[in-house]
Amino acid sequence: MRLYCQPKIDMKTGRISGAEALVRWAHPRLGVITPVHFIKLAEQSGIITRVTNWMLNATMGYLRGWQESGHTGKLALNLSAHDIRSPAMAQRIEDQLDAWGVRPELIQFELTESALIEDPDAALAALSRIKACGADVFIDDYGTGYSSLSYLQRFPIDGIKIDQSFISPMLDDPDSAVIVRSTIELGHALGSQVVAEGVENVRVWQQLTEHGCDQAQGYLISMPMPIEELARWQSRGERVVEPGIAAA
Ligand code: C2E
Ligand code: MG
Ligand code: MG
Ligand code: MG
Repeated sequence: MRLYCQPKIDMKTGRISGAEALVRWAHPRLGVITPVHFIKLAEQSGIITRVTNWMLNATMGYLRGWQESGHTGKLALNLSAHDIRSPAMAQRIEDQLDAWGVRPELIQFELTESALIEDPDAALAALSRIKACGADVFIDDYGTGYSSLSYLQRFPIDGIKIDQSFISPMLDDPDSAVIVRSTIELGHALGSQVVAEGVENVRVWQQLTEHGCDQAQGYLISMPMPIEELARWQSRGERVVEPGIAAA
């Protein structure tokens, strides 16, 4: 396993606000494999628990280092439906935060709508425990699952990440643009932060800024990279979008 990450940018300041941790499988023959090819299998076989534990441990190691160097960036970890069903996972998160002495506000968890809907009672219990630790919880790939509004009301979430399938076509497809704009408004009205994923070009960035989106993530800013490269990438300031770009 390899820990990759992709920066998230605060759209108001144009500065990096944190990063999403993304797993990669370094296969001896096939090279670096992206999770679309193995996460589903890992979920079906139950191996996902080990992947999540590996990621949690690796993430904590980085956060510990960041914390010591005075870095305030947050790292977001993806949890699967399987993780959320298991009470052991919330316990493990608590234990790891304790063991590493990492401030919980530095870690965020991303969960898809489908993971929440599969077993809403178990999900609510797990989320409540994670929240009680002091970590933030975001809904991932927002708009692609069952898109029930009830969980926005029911689950203690801090933010939503609008799926890239709405972000990518928003310049050409008026329906996607309307969905994105109203999702940003809805999220804000409910007190959530709103993150756009899959931001690939400057005009999309500009429109999102006009709609008041809080954070952006995507190839415009950076491709996912091995986490060791993040500090170097950040110190170069390479390709971080300037705050003034919205007016350009
Ligand atoms: P996700 O959580 O929605 O992560 C964002 C995915 O979109 C990443 O794919 C990222 O590389 C890709 N992406 C980012 N910016 C752009 C862009 O501008 N354009 C396009 N076309 N794509 C972009 P990746 O790394 O292949 O991960 C795919 C999915 O696998 C993730 O989607 C997440 O659901 C899952 N995943 C990744 N790491 C983990 C993990 O550690 N645990 C679990 N349970 N799932 C993971
Ligand atoms: Mg994610
Ligand atoms: Mg996502
Ligand atoms: Mg996605």
